[in-house]
Amino acid sequence: AAFRPAAARDPLAVLHEVFGYTAFRGLQDEVIAAVMAGEDALVLMPTGGGKSLCYQVPALCREGMGIVVSPLIALMDDQVAALRQLGVNAAALHSELAAEELGRLRADLSAGRLDILYISPERLLSPGTTTWLARRRVSLIAIDEAHCISAWGHEFRPEYRGLAALPESFPGVPRIALTATADPRTQADILAALGMTAARQFHSSFHRPNLFIAARAKGQEIRQVEAALAPHRQAASIVYCGSRNKTERVAQSLQARGFTALAYHAGLAPDRKRSALDRFRSGEPMVIVATIAFGMGIDRPDVRCVVHLDMPASPEAYYQQIGRAGRDGARADTLLLYGGEDIARARHWLEQSSAPESERRVMQARLESMIALTETVSCRTQGLLSCFGENLAEPCGHCDNCLAPVSTFDGSEAARMALSAIYRTGQRFGAVHVTSVLRGKLTEAVERHAHQHLTVFGIGKERSEAWWRATIRQLTARGALRISGEHGALAIVPEIARPILRGEERIMLREEPADSLRSAPRRPP
Ligand code: ADP
Ligand code: ZN
Repeated sequence: AAFRPAAARDPLAVLHEVFGYTAFRGLQDEVIAAVMAGEDALVLMPTGGGKSLCYQVPALCREGMGIVVSPLIALMDDQVAALRQLGVNAAALHSELAAEELGRLRADLSAGRLDILYISPERLLSPGTTTWLARRRVSLIAIDEAHCISAWGHEFRPEYRGLAALPESFPGVPRIALTATADPRTQADILAALGMTAARQFHSSFHRPNLFIAARAKGQEIRQVEAALAPHRQAASIVYCGSRNKTERVAQSLQARGFTALAYHAGLAPDRKRSALDRFRSGEPMVIVATIAFGMGIDRPDVRCVVHLDMPASPEAYYQQIGRAGRDGARADTLLLYGGEDIARARHWLEQSSAPESERRVMQARLESMIALTETVSCRTQGLLSCFGENLAEPCGHCDNCLAPVSTFDGSEAARMALSAIYRTGQRFGAVHVTSVLRGKLTEAVERHAHQHLTVFGIGKERSEAWWRATIRQLTARGALRISGEHGALAIVPEIARPILRGEERIMLREEPADSLRSAPRRPP
């Protein structure tokens, strides 16, 4: 029996009767009250925070059909299937609809039988559809994943831009924009782009107490990933990589180590993509090794571990990706592996970017916040939330730095040695060569350039190769070094390096945990 909403039903009754829940969570009831009153709303809630009910309940309570704009077909189909299970008459309108489904949908629409219609933005904005839908009684328009409208965001979808025109076709219909991206810049952008400056704003806390956040310098990458995934062999995990190639390589290495691992990236054939998604959704224990193409709309609740093999470009992207773990509320682990080369390369790419200056500055600021997060010696959760303007009063107690406080040491002398070695070798070499010089290792390259005759040769003998790599990485993270040219040559950034070289600035370095000191990577697995 299809559920038929009577006009202006009580939200709490709908929550009980249709969804079977006892109470609203967090800000849900406030959001719903605003939408019921016909106000526009912007809702910021972390992944798993319960955004869907914020529009589903009022769509069922208010007279007319609710329209939900969603960027992904898979996401729409999942939601529709779940709603139909509950007896709600929901449908999705997108380009992959079978002819038969489309016929049924048109009939339902004409008869006014639909409660909730999910639709892709390009479909909603096509002139025929807009006119056709504008003739129906529409209870609300929800714009899901609203950050897709922001060109600053990491998931920009140009077709979202057109949503600004909705009030012309649907005057007086309340709009509710929802996102799990908490960055204040993106919020402002959403409101401006949708012309919703008068919207009520609802921010819930982004703190996810069940996420155990950890970050480590890269050592033997594949061993580190394996160790992180090992406790979760019977569950689902996601490993994010910076490139398509790397997803395939890492998936193979994990398979060789007995994991069920699948690569996923935008370059896969559509059927391979779909089958990977289907298997992931099916609930079987597995590891998806993916680029950022894997993510939006993946709502498997029992992801127990998310590993980053390369540093995300911003705290927003990082938060979003680790947020795919532990959606069921149970404990989940996250591990971010980072290296000096990644950091320098990310900065280098940004410098080379052809994006407009203003945009580049924003991306730069985000990248620097991300780098600071990797190197922080204090609570990572506090650091991450502060990127979103949220102050966690106490350290979280469940990140690596809280659980095992990091010790720091005065690295001023080591920093001077490293910077001198880079200066004396002409700022033309990467970390591997500089480390050889510091440690007095007579390599072929050292001999070729006669670097064994430099005064800096061997000044850092008593420290390991990995220790020097960590020091160089931390100097890079602080901005005292940058990578110039395509060969990864380290160059000194004078403004920042000078006070260190002159002994005017004491610099504290973090003591690296043993596993990242074991061996430094020459190349990825
Ligand atoms: P989001 O879209 O914000 O990531 P969802 O809307 O998918 O989150 O909700 C996450 C989970 O929480 C879902 O399984 C949903 O059924 C559940 N949930 C949401 N609101 C409530 C509530 N008031 N009571 C109980 N469970 C809820
Ligand atoms: Zn903490």
